[in-house]
Amino acid sequence: METAPGDGKDQKLLGNFRRGGDLRTGGTEKGENSVNKILIVEDEEAIANLIRMNLAKAGYQCEIAPDGETAADLISERTYDLILLDIMLPKLNGYEVLEYAKSVEIPVIFLSAMGETPQKVKGLKLGAEDYISKPFEIAELLARVETVLRRCRKADQCIRFLDIEIYPDSRTVLQDGRQVDLTNKEYELLLMFARNKNRALYRETIYETVWGGDYSCAGRTVDLHVQRLKKKLGLEEHIVTIYKVGYRLAV
Ligand code: CA
Repeated sequence: METAPGDGKDQKLLGNFRRGGDLRTGGTEKGENSVNKILIVEDEEAIANLIRMNLAKAGYQCEIAPDGETAADLISERTYDLILLDIMLPKLNGYEVLEYAKSVEIPVIFLSAMGETPQKVKGLKLGAEDYISKPFEIAELLARVETVLRRCRKADQCIRFLDIEIYPDSRTVLQDGRQVDLTNKEYELLLMFARNKNRALYRETIYETVWGGDYSCAGRTVDLHVQRLKKKLGLEEHIVTIYKVGYRLAV
């Protein structure tokens, strides 16, 4: 069995971290592309901070979501290489958050105090990559994080749907194997649809994510860009208008 993270050494580390202040984001300065970004979804602040600090020391860039809703928002707005996901969470539980992670193809390792086999099997069946029972040792966590990242790295470099492949690292889009020229905003829009397959996206959310401004000044900007993107990629039948709401990429 694993030992508790609450032994003397970790408590000391935790104490040091607390003195460092409440850092929800941070990490190393190794250069954007080479750093793996990890989202820690955990409502127990001390555990979240402990994990974050140890992962940051190992060279990962981490963010913490203290509840399921915040996690779902972060997952739709930002890119992560891996999510460490608690099961019992406020607002949305870990299984629900897993659905968001799966829709954007981010690998998940479940973290849970519920060490029993049924929960473990459920998490893995639903598509989690791995499962760690709390309490766990930091060394075990690091080893599992590394293994999952290595296993998923290749698949993670590309987001696919229909005949379209998106490579976020190089901002390249291929359709049927051929490169497609998109404007910046068209690319951002496509990426947002691809990361939210089959999910209704509000015009407001699209505007705020892609253009980053106040929707009340947007006019027909979103509609015009969606029309152009649909035409360019032949997605007329797949990007569906939802009356009074916005759009959905149906695949
Ligand atoms: Ca919890």
